[in-house]
Amino acid sequence: EAKKRGKNQAVRYSQEQNDAIEYRLYVEQGLYNALTNKELHATFQPIVNSDRKIVALEALCRWHSQDIGNINPASFIPVAEETGLINALGLKMLREVCIAHRLLRESGHPHIKLHVNVSILQLNSAMMVQEFLNYLADFGVVPEDLVLEVTESVMHDFNTRKVLKELSQKGFGIAIDDFGAGYASVSELSEPFTTIVKLDKSLAPTNDENSKQNIIAESLVNLCHRLDKKVLFEGIESEAQADFATRAGSHYMQGYLFARPMSLMEVVSLLDSVEQQTN
Ligand code: C2E
Ligand code: MG
Ligand code: MG
Ligand code: MG
Repeated sequence: EAKKRGKNQAVRYSQEQNDAIEYRLYVEQGLYNALTNKELHATFQPIVNSDRKIVALEALCRWHSQDIGNINPASFIPVAEETGLINALGLKMLREVCIAHRLLRESGHPHIKLHVNVSILQLNSAMMVQEFLNYLADFGVVPEDLVLEVTESVMHDFNTRKVLKELSQKGFGIAIDDFGAGYASVSELSEPFTTIVKLDKSLAPTNDENSKQNIIAESLVNLCHRLDKKVLFEGIESEAQADFATRAGSHYMQGYLFARPMSLMEVVSLLDSVEQQTN
């Protein structure tokens, strides 16, 4: 029996590969249904300023599957992009962001901005700008209250840059996400339409104050200041990191030290409780 299995495995995929393929197939088939049966929803992670006050929320997509539990964005976002479902997913997230916008205003927190991640594939259609504007108009949201997060790689493409420029002219904030993680080019920091540079987790300060990583991070903050961009440290998990980021001149911070991604209701009660403390 063992011999037979071994032989089979030699010509087929290993168990591990099989599992990976099955999982991938499940994700592919399940994602379409998930979009219609409400298995997808947004969580919101607070972004704080240098006084550690919550000034914005980043919407992050979550998929809780009835069959196999939670699936990571790292597993399903690439699948959404390959299957073209990312456009529907993106609009779904925009809708959740608009709903959050309304609830925040109704609950007395009108200054909170909302960040939403946008895939390069959503940016390659000329219709996209109008589609976004129509969507917002239905909810009475103005582009100025939103920040679109794009990964630096989208900057390399002429067409997407054109769409980004247009979005920026309409009033949207544009953040370069995960800066420094991939094929970062410093020249991208000079794009007039980028308003915020989000330094990737891998650049979050280390405990050794004088590490090369910290020197690079600090210099990037200076560079952003001089180029008139706001800068944000992602993945801040410790006091020491937050301290360093603040001393370096970071405008914003985001990370588990301040808050994890949470439901809209949790965010509102967090905002309410912080307000009570300062009153
Ligand atoms: P991202 O946009 O760079 O989001 C930040 C990720 O870092 C989130 O992971 C967040 O939960 C995580 N994070 C936040 N603070 C900390 C921290 O202190 N330490 C650590 N280790 N991690 C932290 P998440 O939610 O798993 O999302 C992963 C990526 O998936 C996102 O990276 C984004 O690129 C993509 N994504 C998520 N939602 C959407 C969406 O609605 N649309 C698109 N196009 N992409 C999305
Ligand atoms: Mg992001
Ligand atoms: Mg990021
Ligand atoms: Mg990321």
